[in-house]
Amino acid sequence: MLIVGGGITGLLIALKLYKDHQLTVIDIGPDPRFNVHTFGATYSGLDARHISFTETDPWTSTDRIETIMTSSVDKGWLCIPKKDLTDFEKKWILKFQETARNELIHKFNTSEVIELNKRGILEWEKLGKEYDFLKPISYESVMPIICRNREDLIGEYDFESSLDKRSRIYKNMILPNSLKPLLQRQEELGNLGYFTVYGKAYSIKTICNKLIDFLKSEGVSFLWNKSYSNIPTDTIVWASGVSLEASNLLEKFSILLGGVIGCWIAMDNPGITQACKIYAGEPVNYINITPEGSNLYLSGGYGFVGVRPYGEAVKMAQPIIEYMTEEVKKWFPGSKIKNKAFCVRPSTPTGVPVLIKHKLNKIPIIFAVGHCAGGFTQAPYTAERVKSLMEET
Ligand SMILES: Cc1cc2nc3c(=O)[nH]c(=O)nc-3n(C[C@H](O)[C@H](O)[C@H](O)COP(=O)(O)OP(=O)(O)OC[C@H]3O[C@@H](n4cnc5c(N)ncnc54)[C@H](O)[C@@H]3O)c2cc1C
Repeated sequence: MLIVGGGITGLLIALKLYKDHQLTVIDIGPDPRFNVHTFGATYSGLDARHISFTETDPWTSTDRIETIMTSSVDKGWLCIPKKDLTDFEKKWILKFQETARNELIHKFNTSEVIELNKRGILEWEKLGKEYDFLKPISYESVMPIICRNREDLIGEYDFESSLDKRSRIYKNMILPNSLKPLLQRQEELGNLGYFTVYGKAYSIKTICNKLIDFLKSEGVSFLWNKSYSNIPTDTIVWASGVSLEASNLLEKFSILLGGVIGCWIAMDNPGITQACKIYAGEPVNYINITPEGSNLYLSGGYGFVGVRPYGEAVKMAQPIIEYMTEEVKKWFPGSKIKNKAFCVRPSTPTGVPVLIKHKLNKIPIIFAVGHCAGGFTQAPYTAERVKSLMEET
């Protein structure tokens, strides 16, 4: 069996299937254990991810009908100059806007994606019990979310709390000691308070490197620097991220896989000891904050980059990283920025990931792609669903 894509989705699918199948994983990028790998969302960012019920939800809210076509220079999501949009990119954007115009579909998609996030969290908890190297960074499961104004605090909390009774709002309350460096900013905001969701933080790259070691030791083969071509196999599981090759093939099955870039900043940790999130405006949106010893990893920002190669996408995303840097400096004015990075989220225009079985040149193929901003959260449940689909074959 061939698994195309050795990111978090492909690796967890391999972990689910290796006992019953002879597996080869192929990936267009180099072995990430020894090289810089910039071909997917799993490896090209920094070594941190959160799991939470709303880690991703469909981006197709009505206010984004305009935002998706507004240039990132003007705080929109469009990183590509309008005149340079390819037919594929126009198609992706049209589908996005069409979905955003239909509130019923958007609502339906939202509950579907939240359910995937919830199932993913349960599966991560099971994996952590089974494998030592699949545990979170810390066992803290309360993730505070800090907002910039009262409207955001109430609006965002209402959404979260309607999904999970473990969410809680702390109006006019001082932030916990674990977030002390943010106290001054909280005072400037007029001590709004914050809310919490159930969530945990993980080191994605460390986990993937250990998964590759483990799977190799169990007999799984890996082919790096290799794009899919007609390799003889009984079954294909397609778990690729965004690349021109992948998107061309997927389009033949009416799957539109495009890239939405996000940014990372690593800075000196001023004393944060608990993972948390800050809710900022477009195009930064939620900033995920993960402390790891003397480092603080921050991620956020959204910009549509189509299927542009990584280097081109990063250049196009400059306005997004500038807004993100500005926002981060407001919250951590004294911390030195050590590093910036990017990754391209593999995204469907509807925000709902694809899990579907087809045939390619008479070979059964299962597509498991397009997990947007929640691919880490959902990966173990995606793997579980792929296994069920295989059993139906
Ligand atoms: C800034 C940022 C922050 C994020 N934070 C979170 C978070 O906190 N929580 C969360 O759940 N998610 C988060 N995400 C999203 C998450 O990182 C992705 O959804 C996830 O990594 C996708 O994994 P994947 O394996 O499906 O795809 P990818 O990792 O994108 O791709 C898998 C592999 O496919 C390969 N590939 C592509 N084309 C081909 C081809 N033709 N042939 C062979 N191989 C190919 C690539 O080389 C790549 O290694 C974040 C994303 C960004 C950008």
